[in-house]
Amino acid sequence: MARSAAAPVRRRRRGTGDGALGPPSGIVAIVGRPNVGKSTLFNRISGQRRAIVDEMAGLTRDRLYGIAEWRGRRFTVVDTAGLDPRGSTRDDAEHVALVRGTQQQARLAIAEADVICLMVDVRSGITALDEEVAGILRAGGKPIVLAGNKADSPVDPYFAHELYRLGLGEPVLVSALTGIDTGDLLDRIVDELPPPDPEAEVPASALRLAIVGRPNVGKSSLLNALAGEERALVSPLPGTTRDAVDTWLDRPEGAVQLVDTAGIRRRGVIDTDVEHYSLLRALRAMERSDVAVLVVDASTGIVAQDRHVAGYAADAGKGLVVVVNKWDLLDFETRAAPATLKTVAAAFAFVPGVPVIAGSALDGRNVSKVIAAARGVAEARSTRVPTPVLNDLLRRALEDRPPRLHKGRRLKLFYAAQAQAASPTVVLFVNDPELLHFSYRRYLEHRIRAVFAFNGVPLQLVARRRSAQQAAAS
Ligand code: GDP
Ligand code: GDP
Repeated sequence: MARSAAAPVRRRRRGTGDGALGPPSGIVAIVGRPNVGKSTLFNRISGQRRAIVDEMAGLTRDRLYGIAEWRGRRFTVVDTAGLDPRGSTRDDAEHVALVRGTQQQARLAIAEADVICLMVDVRSGITALDEEVAGILRAGGKPIVLAGNKADSPVDPYFAHELYRLGLGEPVLVSALTGIDTGDLLDRIVDELPPPDPEAEVPASALRLAIVGRPNVGKSSLLNALAGEERALVSPLPGTTRDAVDTWLDRPEGAVQLVDTAGIRRRGVIDTDVEHYSLLRALRAMERSDVAVLVVDASTGIVAQDRHVAGYAADAGKGLVVVVNKWDLLDFETRAAPATLKTVAAAFAFVPGVPVIAGSALDGRNVSKVIAAARGVAEARSTRVPTPVLNDLLRRALEDRPPRLHKGRRLKLFYAAQAQAASPTVVLFVNDPELLHFSYRRYLEHRIRAVFAFNGVPLQLVARRRSAQQAAAS
C-alpha cells in the first residue's frame, strides 16, 4: 500500500488560482465506539482554521464540529462522540450506556449527515458493537466510508481482513494519530459528498438568515415576532423528516429568507437527543445562510455552547448577530449597567464588531433591529476592498511595524488582493507563507479592519508563495 504522511493541507481550488475556497457545504459525521480515535481524526481534519478561532476565543475543549478543507472542497465535520454524554458515563451501567450511546450516534448521523465515516480499530479487530453499528448504518441508506484506524505500527498485527465482514466495502486503513493515509480517507469522503449547493456559491438576492441557539433561548418566539404572526407550531419527530422549510419575509429593503424554520420550531423539549438533532440542523441552516442570528438567554448568561456556535459561524465565513433575548427577565439595574452588554460582546470578541442586540421576543423589544443589524453585517460581508487601497494600507502597516526576523529571514509582502469569495478573504502574496506568524497575521487583520470594519464578519487572510520574479512579472 502506498503510504504518505498526508496531513490535510489546503490545496488550491481549480480555476481560481488565488486559493479562495467556497462556503462549506455538506455534513460528515464520524461514528464509532469509544476509543477508536474519532476525536483524533476530527482534530486532524478540522484542525488549522478552527485552531485560530479557538485560540482567540479561549475555546480549546469540547469541540464537536468544525470545518475541513480538502481538494478545494469545504465541508462540516462532526465528532459524534461528544454528542452523547451517555457514551462516556462511568457507572455500573457503563457498558449499556456505551452501547446505547454508540447506536444513538449512528442514528443521529443517518438522520442528519450527508456522509458517515465509521471508524473501527484495526488493532483490536471487529467487535460485536462495531457489527451492530455497521448494521444500523447499512440500513440507513447514507453513503458510508469505513476507516480502519491505528494502522501505524508494523509491529502490531492488523485485523484488516475482518473489516470486510462489516459489509461496507473496502476500508481505508489510516492512522489518525500520525496522519498516515488520512488524505486517502478524505479523498473517499469528498467523493461521496453531494455536489455543493449552487445557490450557496452565488450572492443571493435575498438576505439569508439562520436563527440558531440552544433550546429554549427563544428562537421560535423570535421567529414568530419577526414573521409578525403566531404561526402554527409543528413538532415532527426529531430526525424523521428533512423538512427544511424556509420562511420568507417581504421587507421594503428586500426579501429575507429565514432558513429552515421547521428546524427552529422544534421547540420546548429539553432532551439531549433533540438538542443534538437541532444542533446538526443548525449547522446545516448556517451552511445555507449569509448571517447567523445567534439567540442567547439573558437570564442564564453566555455558556460555552453559545460561543462554539458563534465560532462555527466564523469558521464557515458567515456573518454574526447576537440577540440577547429575555432581556425583560433582568432587573432594572442589570439592564441599565453598560457592563452587562459589554460582557456579552467580550464573549464574542473573536468576531470583531459583532452587533449585540438586547431584546425580548416576548414583548417585542428591539425585535425590529434584528433584521437591520443582519443586513448591515451582510453588507459588510460583501464589501470589496479596492486592490490599490488594500496594498497602500498593508504597505503602511509593514512600515509601521516590520515583521520580525525568523531564522534569519523576514516576511516580504509583494502584493495583496481580495479573493472572489462569498466571505471576505484577503490573499497575501509573500516570499514564504511560513514567515507569516499568527500574531502578525492578527496585526494585519487589525489594520485592515481599522479602515474597512467588516463588523460582525470573519476576515480570512491567506498567504500564498510568490517568487520575486513572479511578483515583478504580474
Ligand atoms: P474516540 O473516543 O473514538 O474519540 O478516540 P480518541 O480520539 O479519543 O482516541 C482514543 C485513543 O486512541 C487516544 O489515546 C489516541 O491517542 C489513540 N489513537 C487515536 N488514533 C490513533 C492512531 O491512529 N494510532 C494510535 N496508535 N493511537 C491512536
Ligand atoms: P426555542 O427553543 O429557542 O425555540 O425557545 P422558545 O421560543 O420555544 O421559547 C422558550 C420559552 O422561553 C417559551 O416559554 C417562551 O415563551 C419563552 N421566551 C421566549 N422569548 C422570551 C423573552 O424574550 N422573554 C421571556 N420572559 N420569555 C421568553
